[in-house]
Amino acid sequence: MPQSSNSKDTLIRNARLIDGTGAPWFEADLRISGSRIAAIGVSLPAEEADIIDARGCYLAPGFIDAHCHDDLICLREPDRPEKVLQGVTTLVVGNCCFSLYPATAGSAEMLRLHFSGLAGETRTDEVFDSFDGYRLALEGPGVALNLVSLVGHAAIRLAVLGYDRRAASSEEIAAMQALLAQQLAQGAAGLSLGLVYPPSAFADTNELCALAETVRAHGKLLTAHIRSYEAGLLNSIDEFIAILRASGAAGLLSHLQSAGKPNWGAIPKALDRLEAARAEGIDISFDMYPYPAGFLHAAIVASGGARRRHRCATRAAARSGPARGAARAGGGGRSRSACRAVQDRADRLAQCAHLRHRQSRAEAARGQVDGRCRARARHLAVRSHGSLHRGGPGSDRHHHVPAR
Ligand SMILES: [Zn+2]
Repeated sequence: MPQSSNSKDTLIRNARLIDGTGAPWFEADLRISGSRIAAIGVSLPAEEADIIDARGCYLAPGFIDAHCHDDLICLREPDRPEKVLQGVTTLVVGNCCFSLYPATAGSAEMLRLHFSGLAGETRTDEVFDSFDGYRLALEGPGVALNLVSLVGHAAIRLAVLGYDRRAASSEEIAAMQALLAQQLAQGAAGLSLGLVYPPSAFADTNELCALAETVRAHGKLLTAHIRSYEAGLLNSIDEFIAILRASGAAGLLSHLQSAGKPNWGAIPKALDRLEAARAEGIDISFDMYPYPAGFLHAAIVASGGARRRHRCATRAAARSGPARGAARAGGGGRSRSACRAVQDRADRLAQCAHLRHRQSRAEAARGQVDGRCRARARHLAVRSHGSLHRGGPGSDRHHHVPAR
């Protein structure tokens, strides 16, 4: 809370205080002095303080929105009242392989189109060469919330391979590691994978393990939108666990869910895997969204206009990225087949999005998630929060854009 050092204290009276430890709420007063909590107790003295009567209201530490895609809107609308009014004080952005940095001269246009597919038309001056560039752009107008930024795998891969649908060579992996290391050193909180989204989806486990090792070397976090949340859910979790086991990196599985009617009921098995991995000593956690709805890039891709945009992105990749030489060497056929590959992928994703949408509506109607799953999910999610928090806001290992 921004206050000058000589401003009056604030005393919040009779609040239902939730202290963030997991304990039940209790009624108490809370005194704020400067930007600090000076005292908590019953019937605190009121001298020299502005008094707020909070009887019947809850008072809690700010909430962390651990998974959002607010990278762009924070640049454009830094006040973010819709988050502040829900009690959110920290955002984690850069999820699912989507970040607005790092871009090279050759990849900037591809990255702009890539992010546009997620969050709407993104301008050329809204993609950045590095974390530092993004941070400076945010700090210009200031942001009302604390921001934790992950670097997106897509940006890293576009910078080195463009939209090439193939395994990276050892030289290309080294180049991606160097670019990633630069972002992490500047303050990015970790690396996010989006293994259904081209070009993140084109990475093999070898590449992912190497990048995870870079994440571990910097003591940061690897998050993953895994390869499948449908029939391939459990295999996809196994792949992510194997990457964490091999690299020693701390990992967070993004938005755990089991989508598609034939796959309903897989969450207990998923939780078994996560708990077994933790028992083995792997630092894995997860987040999940607490509402029966979803959003997928493919919902946009499915529209004709976006399909054209995706084709353009692929062609731009073939024209202007590091893939340029290879595309020329391979002639137009290579470019066309790359276009088809992305298009096929988009069609499959659109189908998944459609199924997920139908499933979500059905689940909402039938209350599919049973109490036992919820309890286990809460248990693990609390640990997830702890894991993220250790490496997230307030940590001196990560750059922390201060609240305004
Ligand atoms: Zn995702």
